[in-house]
Amino acid sequence: MALTRRDFVSSIAMGTVGAGLADAAVTGGVEARQPMRAAKLPIIISAGNGIPYIGAGYQHLLEGGDTLDAALRVVQGPEDDPNDDSVGLGGLPNEEGVVELDACCMHGPTRRAGAVGGVRNIKNVARLAREVMQHTGHVMLVGEGAERFAVARGFVRENLLTDASRKVWLLWKETHADWWGAGLADPAWKEREQQRLHTDRRLQYYQQLQQVAEDLGIEPELRQAAIHHVLFPPTGTIHCSALNAKGEMSGVTTTSGLAWKLPGRCGDSPIIGAGCYTDQDVGSAGATGSGEENIKVAGAHTIIENMRHGMSPLEAGMDALKRIVRNYNGDMNRIKYLDMTYYILRKDGAYAGVSMWTGYEPDQPHAIAVHDGRPRREKTVSLYEGVSQEWPPMVAPSSALL
Ligand code: ASP
Repeated sequence: MALTRRDFVSSIAMGTVGAGLADAAVTGGVEARQPMRAAKLPIIISAGNGIPYIGAGYQHLLEGGDTLDAALRVVQGPEDDPNDDSVGLGGLPNEEGVVELDACCMHGPTRRAGAVGGVRNIKNVARLAREVMQHTGHVMLVGEGAERFAVARGFVRENLLTDASRKVWLLWKETHADWWGAGLADPAWKEREQQRLHTDRRLQYYQQLQQVAEDLGIEPELRQAAIHHVLFPPTGTIHCSALNAKGEMSGVTTTSGLAWKLPGRCGDSPIIGAGCYTDQDVGSAGATGSGEENIKVAGAHTIIENMRHGMSPLEAGMDALKRIVRNYNGDMNRIKYLDMTYYILRKDGAYAGVSMWTGYEPDQPHAIAVHDGRPRREKTVSLYEGVSQEWPPMVAPSSALL
């Protein structure tokens, strides 16, 4: 197996360059996929990071609550968590250090939708998407207009950039932007230049990042993860779909999107039909992963249409993944940089989680969280074995580090 950049960082940190070891933290508790069985209602599914909160959503369904309310209870957990750097408060910011959030939702029983994109200073954008749905004649608001609408609806403006996320952003800025970091006149610049000439470049680069991370005050135990985020800008999102005992369904997806993105960039998460789609007659589906790819196949909508025409949740999801592959004519030199996971719930309670890649086995495979009376995470079914290589490929360090 080729050494991935993720492997590269961890293996350098462990002094085993070339060993190809993954840096997965042990999270445990991921079960094999359940064989298809009679569905139990209510049922609620989410991305794997929803597992701490899925019980609250399930309980709401048991008590006869609305399906969108239930799904919002699940995704609000990561939105409120400052330590989850993929969503809401503490999300990794754009290239200017500003957190911009995206979300959309669909309410099956009333066949309505709401979405917000590029929202600053408002933490709970999934709920804001529902406000757009409930309190405007529109479906989508973006940017400043969405923020002003949020304030008008009683949302509180707050700084979403936590100190931890700010430092990781600074680490990226210091090492990847030409006019940040040590300038030509700085003695450190000279030292770095000499190092470049006399040591292995990759190891030296990693050591430089370690040094800058230390200078920025990033805690030793957080440095490796911070460097990984800098080298390979992460994505991260949560989707949740819920089905109650009456057969009503809803779905919601919320994210801070791709780290270090261009200001104004929206991925698939706020796009109805890509990041989330619910059709009360068929089912509900959502996505996490390479947003640009998912937009091009309208992933969530494609899956619902596939199920409408008779495919199982698993077949419907695999077909959507294959459409992404088709867009690259099966060229694995490019597909290896993509990742995609779909979370799929059919109207009868059958569900599936499917991924482009398995993820890190055995501890961090791609997973779907499920609660139908028993909360659990199950491994997704993947199109390819292994892990995606993260994009972009090893970036050139800025001139300040060379
Ligand atoms: N799909 C999201 C986006 O592209 C990111 C993610 O799911 O991790 O913004």
